[in-house]
Amino acid sequence: MEDSLRERIGMLTARYPSKRAALLPALHAAQEANDGVISEEDLSSLAALLGVSPSHAFGVVSFYTMFRTKPVGKYHLQVDTNLPATLAGAEEILKHLLKHLGIKLGQTTRDGLFTVSSVEDLGASGTCPVIQVNDRYYEAMTTDKVDALIESLRRGEWPEWPVAGYFESECNILLRRRGRPDSASLEGYLADGGYGALAKALSMTPAEVVDAVKSAALRGRGGAGFPAGLKWGFVPKNSEKPVYLVCNADEGEPGTFKDRQIMEFDPHLLLEGMAIAGYAIGAKRGFLYIRGEFSWIARILEQAIAEARAAGKLGDNILDSGFEFDVVVHRGAGSYVCGEETALIESIEGKRGHPRIRPPFPAQEGLWGCPTVVNNVETLACVPYIIEHGADAFRKIGPNNNFGPKLFGVSGHVNRPGVFEFPMGVPLSRVLEAAGGVKGELKAVIVGGLSTPLLTAAEAADVRLDYESCLKSGTMLGSGAIIVMNQTVSIPRAALRLMQFYAHESCGQCTPCRQGTHTIVHLLQTLLDGHGTLQDLENIERCAATIRGATLCPGGDAFAVPLGAMIRKFRPEFEALCK
Ligand code: SF4
Repeated sequence: MEDSLRERIGMLTARYPSKRAALLPALHAAQEANDGVISEEDLSSLAALLGVSPSHAFGVVSFYTMFRTKPVGKYHLQVDTNLPATLAGAEEILKHLLKHLGIKLGQTTRDGLFTVSSVEDLGASGTCPVIQVNDRYYEAMTTDKVDALIESLRRGEWPEWPVAGYFESECNILLRRRGRPDSASLEGYLADGGYGALAKALSMTPAEVVDAVKSAALRGRGGAGFPAGLKWGFVPKNSEKPVYLVCNADEGEPGTFKDRQIMEFDPHLLLEGMAIAGYAIGAKRGFLYIRGEFSWIARILEQAIAEARAAGKLGDNILDSGFEFDVVVHRGAGSYVCGEETALIESIEGKRGHPRIRPPFPAQEGLWGCPTVVNNVETLACVPYIIEHGADAFRKIGPNNNFGPKLFGVSGHVNRPGVFEFPMGVPLSRVLEAAGGVKGELKAVIVGGLSTPLLTAAEAADVRLDYESCLKSGTMLGSGAIIVMNQTVSIPRAALRLMQFYAHESCGQCTPCRQGTHTIVHLLQTLLDGHGTLQDLENIERCAATIRGATLCPGGDAFAVPLGAMIRKFRPEFEALCK
């Protein structure tokens, strides 16, 4: 191992209470230092440096899709082919790319320059088709742009094609600063009154801050909608162990691309929310777990943290109050299941992202067995508004028990896919109008991300986007990821793509999920190939019904429930495939 890499790993370990927790960042560093491959020698040296066995280190490498032990071309082109990307034409982009390069999927060109892979969701549903080239994203791709990209890379030049994406904000809270040139800078944030809420929080007692968030009835924006203040209140008082705050920025649910808007365009809003949350729960350290593919956003966050530290907004003795709090950015490495809070905790500890059996819940035993609160980016970004303006002001936004602003990411068959900030409870029709309306005739819509049941056009007509209204309509608000499908979409094909994703992402701990996903993929493929029977369709339904509630984490329900809804609501389409 090169000395520079050894030195880098030494710096990384200093960020964690346990050396082995630096395994993921150390693997990223080793891979970057060695042309995109982790060598056997580096893996052994790295394991020895961090005090883990080589088999543990290899187990981690083999779990996460971003780590590689086999070489790829100088430019690794990875095309997102998940459902929202497919609706935007990703399959055509992939075909064109392969034809242009004259290779098959997974192959490398003879000159060693290009390897092409298809990957699951890249968190860019509003700007797909998207190609990730090494650690850069090329979004809103067309066949012409693919040609230009290849030619440019052949010359050794990286094109700069920033894609802003559409956005609109009715609430002006979470996207308030989106679109401004200085949106990510501390200077710009301070000019807008930033960190005023932190100063106010520090003049309150931690219990008063928790009470304010409880009174605001802020519900977690990651998917479950659990009240954030209640979660904070579960942390044992006067714990002898350290308390940790974790910000879940994994954003892995297909269709979701909202949290990156906050992290990329208003990182100090998130950091201020984290500092206030840390103060409220008694944490001195926060971990910001960001999906591994968002490497440039991780750099923006690192920069914002350094600025905030230098200005006394993070670190020791924040704003001369005696309060100490700092944030570590921890990049994942390609695993959907790490969005589940206990899997995410395992991942920060330097392990495979295997969800834990609960109880104990993280508030009692989370990171390194210590009390830990895990909150989503959007949830934490709501906190400064609550402290600055008061719980009553927050409760004036949205309907009862569903207060506050919400970000909705709209993808699929709309004219202006993008991210939109509205009060909770906004009619779906209003959000679709902001997204430029449906392209063609609406057939079905998913309102909460791929793991939530789809709605037919008739069911979607009057739906309002809040937790209770969505439940009444037979679906869930989830992460607010709206995937629109028009009359051209085959629901059985969408079902297959759903199941392929979950088969790929299953962590493998429980049989119903590990095996059930592959069984259902096989049966759906048989139907779509024209060889299936009604019995196969019934077997799919039986399999999905059996898996519901029978898995260790919500991963089983995450596919069994939406798959069941697809078959129930569009059964004639499935039956038409049966012999
Ligand atoms: Fe892993 Fe799937 Fe079981 Fe969740 S349901 S623990 S993802 S195997």
